[in-house]
Amino acid sequence: MKATRWALIGASDIAATRMIPAIRARGDVVVAVQSSTTAWANSFAQKFDIRNAVTSVSEICDRDDVDAVYISSANAKHHAQAVAAAKSGTHVLCEKPLALSVSNAVEMVRVARESGVILAVNHHLPGADTHRAMQRLVRDGAVGRPLAVRVSHAVLLPERLRSWRVDDAEGGGVVMDITTHDASVLDALLGAHPVEVSGLAVQQADWAGSGSSDISVPDSVMATLRYESGVLAQIHDAFTVPYSPTRLEVLGDEATLTALDVMTQDPIGSVWLQSGKEHREIDVGERSDLYSIILNSFVEAVDGTGEPSVSGEAGIRSLAVALAVQSSVSSGQSVAVHSGVRESHNGRGENRPQSK
Ligand code: NDP
Repeated sequence: MKATRWALIGASDIAATRMIPAIRARGDVVVAVQSSTTAWANSFAQKFDIRNAVTSVSEICDRDDVDAVYISSANAKHHAQAVAAAKSGTHVLCEKPLALSVSNAVEMVRVARESGVILAVNHHLPGADTHRAMQRLVRDGAVGRPLAVRVSHAVLLPERLRSWRVDDAEGGGVVMDITTHDASVLDALLGAHPVEVSGLAVQQADWAGSGSSDISVPDSVMATLRYESGVLAQIHDAFTVPYSPTRLEVLGDEATLTALDVMTQDPIGSVWLQSGKEHREIDVGERSDLYSIILNSFVEAVDGTGEPSVSGEAGIRSLAVALAVQSSVSSGQSVAVHSGVRESHNGRGENRPQSK
């Protein structure tokens, strides 16, 4: 199997802790890293034994030894960086949220399609073995007609991540960070897009130690999503909750699926089916690393043998839900959700990928 040659756009924590190990575990190669600060780019490259450190995205796009980029810069940069990489004929695995507006995300997917490259999103949860088992059970009617979904994704933000997430009103906040992930989970679980959302958010922690009660960057949100079919979904996302296992439940008219500890970055957690007197644990089979699943499916899509775990179109839909929740929080009104996209085959549209 040919090794994929990667360049990292963004010298980030997630690249360091999850993606570089997963890329190397596949036998792929990290050729270069880009970060806007020379000193940071160089020290990151040195620490992770990456041969080339650059400061501009064009230096990545101009290389002829890069097959794909992994974009994990700050959220506001994803759009321009992905468009530049796709236009240069490089496949793109982009972090969530794809962009800060639906129109920018739509443009990213359109440019990738027109350039004949794959654009996929690093939403790690829908591909997890626990989530796949739940998706299969719901699809096969194990809960009967789904009536409601409850998501509890309230965690304590690790100290090392308490920077832009808690003080950048534009790209930070719990909604862009965690609600986008929940939306990707619901999208794959229900195979449907919500039509309306309603949300309330607050800032519960004093991150800066300033005693400020400004809620321009919410760290806790509860939202309700309504689907055309009559399903209601309820989500609770937070950076402030230290001792609560994450939880995902699908309540149907014949049974309930309950999953504990499955809204995580690790291949852990359990799934239970309850109907009548029966309450049994579901055997989800072998657990794979969540980021390896994303990378494997991405490379299969590039090779034309599979589909990305989460396509660009699905990334647009997740973003649209998060933006609708933000809009509802700001306006105090329920908000209609518009993503305006449908899934295209293989996340690639009509065009075949072109090698650089
Ligand atoms: P980081 O805060 O670690 O890094 C983001 C950017 O900040 C870097 O690309 C770099 O900017 C700059 N930066 C970080 N540290 C330094 C430093 N010491 N000196 C100078 N610049 C620095 O981001 P995260 O890893 O927390 O998140 C990155 C992206 O990944 C986000 O889009 C986030 O939403 C997503 N994410 C996804 C996860 C998932 O499971 N799918 C989990 C965690 C994050 P630059 O290189 O642009 O100059």
